[in-house]
Amino acid sequence: MSAGTTTCEACGASDVHAYPRARTSGRVIVRCRSCGLRFLSNPEDAAAIHDFYDEYDRELFELYANARRSSMLDVVWRETIERISELLGGSAGRTLFDVGSGGADFLALARDAGYEVSGSELAPGAVEVAKETHDIDLHLGDLPTIEGSNLYDSVTMWCVLAHVSDPDELLTECLRLLKPGGVLFMQTPRWSAMDGAALAVSKATGGRASRVIDRRVSDTHMRLHSKSSMRQTLERLGFEVIATESRVRYSLETTHYLASLGVPERMRTPISSSVDSLLKRDAFFRNVLDVFARKPLG
Ligand SMILES: [Zn+2]
Repeated sequence: MSAGTTTCEACGASDVHAYPRARTSGRVIVRCRSCGLRFLSNPEDAAAIHDFYDEYDRELFELYANARRSSMLDVVWRETIERISELLGGSAGRTLFDVGSGGADFLALARDAGYEVSGSELAPGAVEVAKETHDIDLHLGDLPTIEGSNLYDSVTMWCVLAHVSDPDELLTECLRLLKPGGVLFMQTPRWSAMDGAALAVSKATGGRASRVIDRRVSDTHMRLHSKSSMRQTLERLGFEVIATESRVRYSLETTHYLASLGVPERMRTPISSSVDSLLKRDAFFRNVLDVFARKPLG
């Protein structure tokens, strides 16, 4: 696909710029000059994504779960549940649905906070872990396989939007599931200075050194939002945007992240101790957006 025929999936603008194709991955990243969205012009289709998660058995899921920065996630999850409760005017008797729940650790905290919880997941290994660890029965499948509408006071998604081939469809399904006045929360990756630097390295090497940018924008991470592209997407689909906030939030332990980038083992410890000290001071790149939006009452 050439830049001339691509339009921005967030705002619809045709003023987009395609970066050179990465040699290793064959990926083409496109930047919207109007809203700042970065997205893949040649993403995986929905069937390939389903196949990827079908393969995600218990062993693979546990490898991923053990690489997470659990102490940080716990704090972030509790703060987010509190914010949602404030927006809803309390948690008592409220229903919360988490899309792509993983092992349901977030849902278990929401249940402790007073919510009646449920969720969905594509990875069979995660559904097993959620049942055994928290006695939570997740729906194995995506949202179109759930019937009904106006069901939940809150719908939440932790890093799901970047992983789907059709983000508009996903958000429209969330709108269907939410009760009028209900609150959507999403965490989704944002374009940061780190990505700009990684892309510059990839360009300077003619696409050869593209490992970092491929890790950030890849088959399973197909778009990095800006505040503007997020707001325009949600408003176009009928949400009222409450807040878009950029955050420093690296969900994987730094050594695991460096390993996934192909950094040699002997270099991982020194690099990760410097990165971790920056993370502690909230001084690293703001890599995600926290988004709160509401389904209109009328
Ligand atoms: Zn745009």
